[in-house]
Amino acid sequence: MRFDTRAIHFAQDPDPATGAFTTPIHQTSTFVQKAPRVHKGFDYSRTNNPTRRTLERVLASLEGVEHCAAFASGLAAENAVLQALLSPGDHVITTDDVYGGTFRLLDAVYARKGCSFSTVDLSDARALDAAFRPTTRLVWLETPTNPRLRITDIAKVCRAAHARGVIVVVDNTFASPVNQLPFDLGADLVVHSATKYLSGHSDVIQGAVLAREASIFEPIHFLQNATGAVPSPFDCWLTLRGLKTLSLRVARHNANAQTVAEFLAGHPAVARIHYPGLSAHPGHAIAKRQMTGFGGVVSLEPLGSPEAIRAFVSHRRFFKLGESLGGVKSLVCHPATMTHASIPAERRRALGLSDSLVRLSVGIEDARDLIDDLEQGLAPLSSRRRRRAVVRRGRVVRA
Ligand SMILES: *Cc1c(COP(=O)(O)O)cnc(C)c1O
Repeated sequence: MRFDTRAIHFAQDPDPATGAFTTPIHQTSTFVQKAPRVHKGFDYSRTNNPTRRTLERVLASLEGVEHCAAFASGLAAENAVLQALLSPGDHVITTDDVYGGTFRLLDAVYARKGCSFSTVDLSDARALDAAFRPTTRLVWLETPTNPRLRITDIAKVCRAAHARGVIVVVDNTFASPVNQLPFDLGADLVVHSATKYLSGHSDVIQGAVLAREASIFEPIHFLQNATGAVPSPFDCWLTLRGLKTLSLRVARHNANAQTVAEFLAGHPAVARIHYPGLSAHPGHAIAKRQMTGFGGVVSLEPLGSPEAIRAFVSHRRFFKLGESLGGVKSLVCHPATMTHASIPAERRRALGLSDSLVRLSVGIEDARDLIDDLEQGLAPLSSRRRRRAVVRRGRVVRA
């Protein structure tokens, strides 16, 4: 079975008990046993649940491995990885623009328990080499990153880490397995926020951990039950439903994002544009090699005052203002005051995260409506810029 067929058929034969065509929602806490510990493989839904099990099998199949554990959120999945693999004294290397929640988990939870971490520009091989310590246990990478869409060469990082016996975790949330298969590039673990593209409709919070090797997976799988951050059967069913259209949706996200990025790249009110699908993007060549599509997130730095940018993000017809990404409906976000507000301004600047940066999660609407919406929002910014240009030439202009 190929990818698109697996998303629909793998582990999803009709229910033998009833003939139900679609995977049932097994909304039950417990399972009746014939005699103590004699049962059909399910005893209690924290430990195992048939709907969750189906989701885990489908996700594993899509990422091309054997093992998957689903969690109640992306961060719960990440926490299981860190809790399973880190001991006090251990060191983690991660990218300097890692997802804010991951940074907080490393910084406010694990650093306080005696672990340490370094943030480096993972696209810089020398910086990565210098960051390894004898205690380094994990490299945690994201590509493309949020919100600047920087690209890291997964295979290269894996080679550097594996030469030192270090495990590589790839957060594959932004790409999804449609656009990028990290295990083929050497990753040891993949984590997902299924909240984003996998479920795809902005109606679920969920996460997953995937692994090729049982020895790395087992301690994580143990924690799924032992610490209990499991998703509900209904949420698993929603994600299973979302996965059936994953490749159609992601193809459309990719196409719409490319169209939007090309429109923005030529717009006079846009100072900078970040999208790995543009040939001018510094990671374009690597992205082309390791991805089959460039994803649905586009960031831009419009010209204009902070108030003008605030108005731009607040008044869009289709790009509604909100955190999150990866759903069928478009969203816009202003990282400096929203998702990345907890990072001090100085550090944001050091990371190259401009206060004017606006992140778009490009949905699967008709791209022409999305462009119209952006065009209308940018018009006042470009006309203001024209007015400033006129003033600079020494003429007095009244707005
Ligand atoms: C959203 C997100 C997470 C966290 O997932 P939740 O489901 O919100 O807990 C982790 N990594 C990335 C890249 C994300 O976008």
